[in-house]
Amino acid sequence: MAQLYGQDDVTGSLKGRQVAVLGFGNQGEAQALNLRDRGFDVVVGNRDDEYADRARSQGLSVLDIASAGAGGAVVVVLLPDEVQPHYENVFRSLGEGQTLVFASGYNLAFDRLAVSPHADVILAAPRMLGAGVRDLVQRGRGFPMLVAAHQDVSGQAMPTALAYCEAVGAFLPGGVAVASSFREEAILDLFSEHTWAASLTFFLEACFEVLTRSGISEEAALLELYASGELGTVGAAIAERGLFAQMALHSTTSQYGQLTRGPGYITDAMRERLASVVQALSDGSFAREWGAAEDTGRLEELRRAVSNTPVARAEDRLYRILGRRS
Ligand code: NDP
Repeated sequence: MAQLYGQDDVTGSLKGRQVAVLGFGNQGEAQALNLRDRGFDVVVGNRDDEYADRARSQGLSVLDIASAGAGGAVVVVLLPDEVQPHYENVFRSLGEGQTLVFASGYNLAFDRLAVSPHADVILAAPRMLGAGVRDLVQRGRGFPMLVAAHQDVSGQAMPTALAYCEAVGAFLPGGVAVASSFREEAILDLFSEHTWAASLTFFLEACFEVLTRSGISEEAALLELYASGELGTVGAAIAERGLFAQMALHSTTSQYGQLTRGPGYITDAMRERLASVVQALSDGSFAREWGAAEDTGRLEELRRAVSNTPVARAEDRLYRILGRRS
């Protein structure tokens, strides 16, 4: 069983140490505001643009990224993963007594970034969107984190990781940290993206095609498949009640249909495919593929292709009628 940590395992505090949050996006805004509200000394490092204005308008001090990184006792890297290597000089310049915190294992796990050998380097990766990190803490609730000590120069890297979890509100009631590693976090995160998340999107597209071809209206199909929001309700129920336990919320007819039809989709070929995803992540081949594609326009090309599919066009028509798009 993995080592789990909570409030009782916290032995130190970040009170009185400046926390520099680099980036003010999904995670940066949520974590910086949580830290500020919980009484910690926080400064934001950001380019001087609308994100910086947004931070200032909420009462936070903003410096440029290099100055914030140089001055923070704890430097939290909440820039997009693909942007972080552009600031390698900042991460390489940290000195003794400083701690570098990542919310994602990606760049260090796949050797896309070098950091200072003098600083502690830890992982504090929320298993939650930034909006959830903020919302839960505002309601007095904690959230799950993966934590790891990657480089322990001071001998205090793990206590600092746990103190950071406390500071950002993760250890409020309901929260927990699970001992992990940069590599495990990166593989887990990408595995979810490459398997259930990727297949769900295209599975729903295939369902739309089959339903409309069988004579069902586009509008009814879209509302049934995802536009009603039922999918989100089921997702929340899975998290709250459990994978199979949440089925109690469905009718008995639905339960019978799910339990008899579901297993048939999971074939040996599919299991092999899932294993090949782990392989491509573990041996770094996905990271190399994405690294080579990053600046080629390939992602934009892929986005353009899906924006003009029958399901995307039908969705656009329906969402305009429903007022979700103008
Ligand atoms: P965002 O995409 O929301 O980050 C946006 C921030 O990055 C803004 O402050 C933006 O400022 C800044 N930024 C973007 N491009 C640049 C650039 N070229 N140079 C300098 N600053 C730039 O990131 P997330 O919050 O989604 O992710 C941050 C980290 O958290 C990542 O490591 C991610 O893997 C991890 N994470 C994210 C989760 C999520 O909720 N999305 C969940 C768990 C972990 P500006 O453009 O104004 O300069």
